[in-house]
Amino acid sequence: MHFLCKCGYRFHDSTDCISYKGRIIADQDWNEFWDCIDKIEKSHENNHAIYERIDDLFHLNLYQCPSCGRVFIENPENISQLIRFTPCLEGEPEPDVNKRLLISSHGEKWKGHLYADWYDEKPEWCDCRGMIYPTLNIQLDDLTFDDYESFENRFYELFEHLKGLRLISYAILNVNRKRTFMWSEKNNE
Ligand SMILES: [Zn+2]
Repeated sequence: MHFLCKCGYRFHDSTDCISYKGRIIADQDWNEFWDCIDKIEKSHENNHAIYERIDDLFHLNLYQCPSCGRVFIENPENISQLIRFTPCLEGEPEPDVNKRLLISSHGEKWKGHLYADWYDEKPEWCDCRGMIYPTLNIQLDDLTFDDYESFENRFYELFEHLKGLRLISYAILNVNRKRTFMWSEKNNE
């Protein structure tokens, strides 16, 4: 899903772990959520229906514009409609608010991941042959490449840097759709 904020910021909701997206659960559903957790712990059967129910309980999405702080909440009666809320202080628009309301409860220490793809033959859907896609709370620039050496150097440079800062839980490098490098924190503890 894509939509525009009133300030011009373009929202993209097509990946996981988005820093400006959250999910709402109604307080009236909170006890049912814990009942679901209880059922999962007790049963050793296929819990698919319970997981689906948990997903339903958190069905409503909200977004905060990282540029101006406006908040958008899906209308439960019509999910394709987003209701916009403008930050106000004493009735006056207040643009200087915390614009990172929806980042992880781990805050800036949240661990994201690093993903990179290289194609010897430039794919039709792409303007370049190499791309690095970080999912992080920090912004990185210059992540598209046309020569392999710069692509690979930049990937390993970023990998070492982010691993050192403990900001990634895994990293993957694919070359012509083949996995050539994979690191995961779990396997290296
Ligand atoms: Zn905005």
